[in-house]
Amino acid sequence: MTTPQHRAALGGTGCVILGAGLAGLSLADALLTRGVTSPITLIDVREEFPDDRTWCFWDVHPHPYRHLVSHRWACWSFSGHGATHRQRSASAPYCHLPARRFYEDVLSRLSAAPNCTLVLGTTVQDVRGQPGTVRVRTSAGEVTAAHCFDALATAGPTWARLGPATGEQQLSQRFLGWFVRAPRPVFDPSCMTLMDFDVTPNGELRFMYVLPFSTTSALVEDTSIGFHGVPADASRDEIRRYLGARFGLHEVEVLREEESVLPMVSARPPRGDAAAPVIAVGNAAGAVRPSSGYAFIRTQRHVARLADAFARGRPGPVPVERPREARLDAVFLEALRDDPPGFANHLLSLGRRMPGDRFARFMMDAASPADVLAMVAALPKGPFARAAARSIATGRMP
Ligand SMILES: Cc1cc2nc3c(=O)[nH]c(=O)nc-3n(C[C@H](O)[C@H](O)[C@H](O)COP(=O)(O)OP(=O)(O)OC[C@H]3O[C@@H](n4cnc5c(N)ncnc54)[C@H](O)[C@@H]3O)c2cc1C
Repeated sequence: MTTPQHRAALGGTGCVILGAGLAGLSLADALLTRGVTSPITLIDVREEFPDDRTWCFWDVHPHPYRHLVSHRWACWSFSGHGATHRQRSASAPYCHLPARRFYEDVLSRLSAAPNCTLVLGTTVQDVRGQPGTVRVRTSAGEVTAAHCFDALATAGPTWARLGPATGEQQLSQRFLGWFVRAPRPVFDPSCMTLMDFDVTPNGELRFMYVLPFSTTSALVEDTSIGFHGVPADASRDEIRRYLGARFGLHEVEVLREEESVLPMVSARPPRGDAAAPVIAVGNAAGAVRPSSGYAFIRTQRHVARLADAFARGRPGPVPVERPREARLDAVFLEALRDDPPGFANHLLSLGRRMPGDRFARFMMDAASPADVLAMVAALPKGPFARAAARSIATGRMP
């Protein structure tokens, strides 16, 4: 999709949002929805909004983009060691929302808003300021604003301050996926494959992820969590091998490829600094859940709280997650760091022993105390007790 290019002369504005990706666009949309009429300027280096990614999540929390979900699966599976475990939830299905739908929907509202300016093809170079005035240097000149949001993911001023502890090896989730069309019906669109561990081992937590859109079309993604990652060509070879081994498919049409590297760090941005001149949102604020890589719903909930505060006349940073979730994540991450390939057994155990509703709530930061107990019951005590002790000892437990 190509959008009309709004190239405005930069200068003064009420609120500048750096980055017009998921977080920046969602924030501008949320400010408009809350009746903000002061000028809002979004700046992004991109020239257009192609269908560049898909967002998936469990339907646990309300958010403004539910009408854009293209597929829902009430069943998801974990496979490994020759067995498949299925979890089901009618009330919290797994959802797929294509970026193209989101961009079209939000951009149509922003284009219609007289107080909103989208400046594309412009690189943010530097941000300086104090509360009350922020100066943003860009490739197209300088903009000054009373309020500034950093929605530049890992490319902005906030992420540079986040970083993992010095000298620490950083865990990352790397994935490469193919949107494929098969010449005959092979996929089961009633159940998506969340994790299939019957893949070629690579010393990391590696699994195949399959979103079956119909009997003949799917997204098939090679995912690897660890310290090294998989070269893109090795991922392509693995997807080819998997399609042959799992579905007997030796010829497929590849419609599109998507890939990414998501940092999985337990470090959090500075919190509660009400005087901060730049307020982080989305990945820049640590919205990617460190232990899972899911960010869409965290971003929407974070955006809603930031926009509420702004609309009430009290803009300021708000934490992305509650302390309890941060602690649970720290323990999961520690156990993952300890033995990435061995973590597959813990996930298979969760898949086998945890009911789907509880698992979905846990994945979406909505676990009740009973859900947490069910999860603890499903996991081996030794590795997680050691992980908890280590995350306290290393200071990674927030
Ligand atoms: C392929 C892919 C699939 C994903 N799938 C899922 C999923 O299924 N579920 C989920 O929850 N999360 C998923 N994520 C993670 C996360 O939801 C996304 O990364 C999300 O887009 C992050 O939103 P954001 O706004 O923080 O960053 P982005 O959407 O990446 O936006 C950042 C923006 O900043 C702009 N920018 C960067 N540097 C500059 C600069 N110097 N000057 C100007 N502009 C700049 C970029 O052009 C971009 O538009 C996925 C990520 C990717 C890449």
